[in-house]
Amino acid sequence: MQSALLTCPHCKEQGEQQLTPFLDLGKHPKQKLAILTDSLFTLTCPSCKQQYSVLHELLVVDEKQHYAFMLIPDTELGEVDGKVTGKEEFDEYLLRLVGSSAGLKEKLLLLDNNLDDRVIELCKLYLSMQLEQQDVQLFFADQQKEEQTLLFTVMDAESHVLGSVECERELYTQLTETVKAFAVRKGYFTKVDQAWAYQQIRNSADQ
Ligand SMILES: [Zn+2]
Repeated sequence: MQSALLTCPHCKEQGEQQLTPFLDLGKHPKQKLAILTDSLFTLTCPSCKQQYSVLHELLVVDEKQHYAFMLIPDTELGEVDGKVTGKEEFDEYLLRLVGSSAGLKEKLLLLDNNLDDRVIELCKLYLSMQLEQQDVQLFFADQQKEEQTLLFTVMDAESHVLGSVECERELYTQLTETVKAFAVRKGYFTKVDQAWAYQQIRNSADQ
């Protein structure tokens, strides 16, 4: 836990809050729920007792499944050297950098569904090109086994839900081949998002 003096957005009083900068999901698997339900980022003001949310830096590690996710709110970085965490074993981990809690939740959901986030970002690129709205973000929501489709939530830049779109599971299968040419640096937390997928396609077209 880490103490921080934060100003409540409701009553404007300052209060000391306990933030969680590190989660080990291998040891405490139930804490995944705290991320998925946003309770990890929800604080109660000691003065007025109202709740508010604060997004803060967070490192999520699962030493059993060998992955680690780094959340840096609104980061513009494309990657972060895993050495900054002081952990040696990260070279063999799946390392991802995310800039929002929605991005973090999506990474966890994808792992639970056994889906490759690099392929998912490519699927999103294809779906985005077909959407009429500009400046929307897509987040993986669910995998519908019977219909053989993948479902995505469409959000605007302020994270308001606009609706949902789906793609055929077949598209995912096809794109699995495409990502084999995409490189992710070992030992680096990489921000695998739509911009990343777009850049990878451009790089492979240049070769
Ligand atoms: Zn308050």
